[in-house]
This record gives sequence, C-alpha cells and structure tokens, in this order.
Amino acid sequence: MRTLLIAGNWKLNPTTAEAAAALAEGVKNGLGSATDVHVALAPPFVFLGAVDRVLEGSPIGLAGQDLYWESNGAFTGEISGPMLVDVGCTHVILGHSERRHGMGETNAHVNSKLKAALAAKLIPIVCIGETKEERLSEKTEEVLLEQLTGSLAGLSNEEMAGVVLAYEPVWAIGTGLTASPEQAQAVHAYIRGWLTQVFGEATAARVVVQYGGSVKPDNAAELLSRPDIDGALVGGAALKAADFLAIIKAGR
Ligand code: PEP
Repeated sequence: MRTLLIAGNWKLNPTTAEAAAALAEGVKNGLGSATDVHVALAPPFVFLGAVDRVLEGSPIGLAGQDLYWESNGAFTGEISGPMLVDVGCTHVILGHSERRHGMGETNAHVNSKLKAALAAKLIPIVCIGETKEERLSEKTEEVLLEQLTGSLAGLSNEEMAGVVLAYEPVWAIGTGLTASPEQAQAVHAYIRGWLTQVFGEATAARVVVQYGGSVKPDNAAELLSRPDIDGALVGGAALKAADFLAIIKAGR
C-alpha cells in the first residue's frame, strides 16, 4: 500500500542554475512518465525556479531542503512554506543531520517546521538518525525515540500518514559507509513499531519511511527490497543522473 519515494538531496550542489537544470533534465528524460515509484529532487533554494521549469509536465516532485516556520516577516535569510509552494515545491526536507548537527537544529525546531510544512500543504521528509558514538554505545533506539517524539509531537493520525520519515544514520551520510540491509530493516521495523504504538496500525502502515546514507546503484536493490524500507533519500549519488536513475530502477 506504500509507494516508494526516491528523493535526491543535492545539498549545496551544483553551483550554477545551468548545471542544476541540466541535472534535472537528465533525470526527467531518463524517468519519462513512469509513476510506479515517486521521485523528488531537492536543489538549493536559488535553483528551485530553474529546476521547476525543467520538471514541468513530469511526475517528479520538487523539494526544498529546509523551511522556516514563520510565513513571512523579519527573518533574514529564511524561506517559508508558502514561498516554497509558490516556486513549485511539493516536498520539503526537514531536520537533516547536517542541520541538526552542523546548525544546532533541535527536535522542537523540526516540530515547528513540520507544522508549517503541513499548513502549507507540502509533503515533509523528516530526517532522523543516530551518530556513530550513539550506535556504538547502543543508544540508537533511545536517540530515535527522542527524535520521533520531539519532531512529530502534536500530529493527528491523518497528518502523520502524510509525513515521510527518512532514517539516516549520521555515520553513513556521505561517508561511503552504508547500514547493512539487515541493520536498516531492524531500525525501520523499530520506527514502524513506534508509529503503530502512537498512531495505530492503520496510520503506521501508510507512513513512507526512507533510508538514507550512502545509497548507491550497487546497494540500492538490496536495501529497497526490505519490507519496511520505502524508498531512499540520496545525497552524493543524486548528483549524477545515471546513478540516480539506476537507484530508481532498483526500486521498481
Ligand atoms: C543525504 O544527504 O541525506 C545523504 C544520505 O547523503 P549520501 O547519500 O551522500 O550519504
């Protein structure tokens, strides 16, 4: 009942609108009109307009990499949910580990952003995951519990069903290290169990839970074949259309 979502997080890449449009064009042409797997691209804010123009008429979603919880006002440097919608976004990534760990984003921040995303009718992709130290000291579930409870506080069942979660072990992001399919499935099953406890079985069964952390063409099929892994949030390998398309193909 869940459709896989493969999303490309381009982070602070590429460096020109022309290159961003070319990358989007490559993905669009390779994907065609296929909708058996959902696909979204998350370019830097300043290239959203250029990528949106390329994606016109394709089923590929457009994602912001973050948003601010206020709609407008004196918040220098920020971008709001309504602004993302205005430029063509359908999705928004929230609480990425690079924001949590590099920019001091807390679960309370993520929760405010999540509510703003839902109010703007964007599909939020909420990232959670443990650091290497936390995994080694067997605190993975404890950390995830804190992130899930704090980031998803106050949501109705219907709202929760429309949220995408991305389990991204911090030690696997951009490092070339990947959680084994067994390790990832075990955590995804834990997340699904938590969702069942808090939101009930019917809602838990609808929530798409992506895996992220060095997903590549050669490890995607194994990860995506696991019962609770419903797609991938892809960083490095999303910067080459051929690699990203191969990951999408692996999910089919
Ligand atoms: C990410 O940016 O969310 C990510 C998982 O990056 P990478 O695929 O490069 O590890």
